[in-house]
Amino acid sequence: MIVETAPTEEQEMNPWLAAEARFEEASERLKLDDGMRKVLRTPSREIIVHIPVMLDDGRLEVFTGYRVQHSIARGPAKGGIRFAPDVTLDEVRALAAWMTWKCAVVNIPFGGSKGGVICEPSVLSEGELERITRRYTAEILEFIGPEKDVPAPDMNTNERTMAWIMDTYSMHFRHTVTAVVTGKPFNLGGSRGRVEATGRGCMIVTLEALKRFGLRPEDTSVVIQGFGNVGGMAARLMSAVGFKIVALIEIDGAVYNKHGLSIQALMEHKKESGSILDFAEAENIDKDEAMFLPCDVLVPAAKENVINSHNAGRIRARILCEGANGPTTAAADAILAENNIFVIPDILANAGGVTVSYFEWVQDRQGFFWNLDLVNRRLAEIMVESFDAVVDYAQKHTVNNRIAAYMVALDRVAFAVKLRGIYA
Ligand code: GLU
Repeated sequence: MIVETAPTEEQEMNPWLAAEARFEEASERLKLDDGMRKVLRTPSREIIVHIPVMLDDGRLEVFTGYRVQHSIARGPAKGGIRFAPDVTLDEVRALAAWMTWKCAVVNIPFGGSKGGVICEPSVLSEGELERITRRYTAEILEFIGPEKDVPAPDMNTNERTMAWIMDTYSMHFRHTVTAVVTGKPFNLGGSRGRVEATGRGCMIVTLEALKRFGLRPEDTSVVIQGFGNVGGMAARLMSAVGFKIVALIEIDGAVYNKHGLSIQALMEHKKESGSILDFAEAENIDKDEAMFLPCDVLVPAAKENVINSHNAGRIRARILCEGANGPTTAAADAILAENNIFVIPDILANAGGVTVSYFEWVQDRQGFFWNLDLVNRRLAEIMVESFDAVVDYAQKHTVNNRIAAYMVALDRVAFAVKLRGIYA
């Protein structure tokens, strides 16, 4: 059933309900029966752990962590782990489901999962973060593994976090198991090209969208929200192929240059000063208004719910490329559609990361590593093929790109469930 009444503020901002709304619409259009819907929507396993950790000052603290395995229908569960003070089980659930759909959209042989630990990484020392990571890993040890569930970086976790998880897991099993996580440092079984893969994927699908608009990168203005791993890499790679990145938005402010920002110089400026603000070649602008600048492409690459029913009508981009997971609420979808904004939905736009994670897992299991050119070529092949599959599906079935992506994904996962049957 598609919910017709307007959601409350709390409902609109709940990522699990956002995932559910799209799931309902796609399964309705696919005419999936009720039983299949129940199987597909319900996470198969939800783990909650409470992790005691000794802080640097000798105090004991207990942190709460989650790992939700949404589906293993198409292969081992796959998905990142985030560290943030406001992580909730509903959020991790939604993110886990999105991983299932994401892996299915790009047709890689994984299910979906996600993890989270409630903590404020900015006030924790390296040692504290390491102890949280190792104890969290120990608590979920029997549920992860190369054939079971393969974690990766997400918000506030990185290569170093993955190295700790890999080491903790390996110490318990008494041999080195590199394929238990992806997004590792290259010298520990990581893949070339993994760090920039999500940003590169965003660039590839945006280039594909431009073709459909008859635009060239040189004539395309871009606004990017977020200058972290996804936004920063997207900015760097997009500007290298000629896009004009006119504005960059971060948590403490935004910068603007109508001729395009020099991303390399801006990265150096941020490294030296700690902020993108007061960059000599740009003007500081209001961060809450920057998202509504007229531009060709808007890339929200920071956090959830930034485009919602209150502000979606003010977006003046022609193309929305969702680098973050869940940047647009379900209620905002209709407004974007009404305004003819071409949406490249998150489960397609940011799938470059998990695609190269898949390559990393394959390389680890073979013990044979590919060069950067091969990684990037195979990534481009998958992203272009998936983009075409989603956009052509949308046109053929007159649905928006997001619902098309969900329909392609749900259909693939439902097919796997049907083929396998239900074990009893
Ligand atoms: N955290 C990333 C995502 O949301 C990557 C997940 C992975 O590589 O497993 O897609």
